[in-house]
Amino acid sequence: MAYYSVNEEKKPRKERVYHTDQNCRSGRDIPKNERRQGTGGYRHCKNCVK
Ligand SMILES: [Zn+2]
Repeated sequence: MAYYSVNEEKKPRKERVYHTDQNCRSGRDIPKNERRQGTGGYRHCKNCVK
């Protein structure tokens, strides 16, 4: 399931990413209350296993 951080919108648009891997290091660092479901229209995180 895709998810992203609400804080992505504070980054430059080209740096915003979403995650699909629950074990992704940068994805795991997103606190539950800052996670949103979906892609947010962002790029797929490079660290997530495809
Ligand atoms: Zn990721």
